[in-house]
Amino acid sequence: MKRFHCSCGSEIFFDNTKCINCGQDVGFDPATLRMFTLQEVKGGLVTEAGEADTRFRLCKHRAEEVLACNWLITEDDPHAECQSCRLTRVIPHQSIPKNVKRWRILEDAKRRMIYNLLNNRLTFETREEDPEKGLVFDFLEDRRSNPLVAEEHIYTGHSSGVITVNAAEADPEYRVAVREEMNERYRTNLGHFRHEIGHYYWMRLVQNTRWEPEFTTIFGNPYWDYDIALKNYYENGPRTDWQEYHISAYAGMHPLEDWAETWAHYLHMNDTLETAVSFNIIKLEFRRDNFRQIFAKWMELTVAMNALNRSVGKFDAYPFVIKHMVYRKLEFIRRVVMDARESSAPAVFSACGSSRSCD
Ligand SMILES: [Zn+2]
Ligand SMILES: [Zn+2]
Ligand SMILES: [Zn+2]
Repeated sequence: MKRFHCSCGSEIFFDNTKCINCGQDVGFDPATLRMFTLQEVKGGLVTEAGEADTRFRLCKHRAEEVLACNWLITEDDPHAECQSCRLTRVIPHQSIPKNVKRWRILEDAKRRMIYNLLNNRLTFETREEDPEKGLVFDFLEDRRSNPLVAEEHIYTGHSSGVITVNAAEADPEYRVAVREEMNERYRTNLGHFRHEIGHYYWMRLVQNTRWEPEFTTIFGNPYWDYDIALKNYYENGPRTDWQEYHISAYAGMHPLEDWAETWAHYLHMNDTLETAVSFNIIKLEFRRDNFRQIFAKWMELTVAMNALNRSVGKFDAYPFVIKHMVYRKLEFIRRVVMDARESSAPAVFSACGSSRSCD
């Protein structure tokens, strides 16, 4: 993620609604990926301080303590919710105090994932725009976390644009327990969103496109029986040499899970590299450099990240080993993403100006 600054010069962060230094209200504009310092004006609109021609409304969920969403809505957009909040269709029952916190944790992670999409010019349609395959999020509970609901088991997953997340994933104790049980190295809410959106973009960018034959060569047949693969994975576990072929053990379950896991990893790399560039830790032109150069920088950065973590007594920030086959898969995803980027209309981003991420 890029770095943001208030008009007073202080650093502000992606989720901030106020500058800690000068106290001014700030908001994030998803169309330009910029953070604005806001001034109140009449008619429910706010403008960037000193720039009367930029007018926004605040997301409906900003005023509520619950979400404190800092995203802005352009003056001509009729929605009351921002581009991220409006994608959520079902939230966990708010009468239960724990669910209030869960909703916020999930929305925070989702907003960060949506930033990744916008930053890569990966377009999506809402359910309102496409009732059959538009993107929508349902945050649901099952009996394991709320005995009052009917569903026995809610699985986090994707189906034709609907991304379902088990709300209990927002609880650190639940995530750690599942991570241990599944023998995973990594389990984060942001990672879940990046994984599930990977399934959505497979459907949009790869399925029945010119990419599908190459996908099948690199990842395997996407039409293999999913239920049999799942049963086999849970009964027999991952193959012992999975690291030679996959980014994670779970990725070896089915070619579509391999794609989603590798896609999530690509967004993970993409965002972390952007952060490192914006803090002047490395020099890189993410859009222009070839993947070999990008990957070499990534390896250099992850060695440093792990060393820093060990110095403060923490586990490795990047516990992954990337073998040749995984590199090929990441490189394929980069080509798919760059191709989608080139074919998406850049008009909405024309206001980016000199912004580092919007080239
Ligand atoms: Zn300030
Ligand atoms: Zn919002
Ligand atoms: Zn999946």
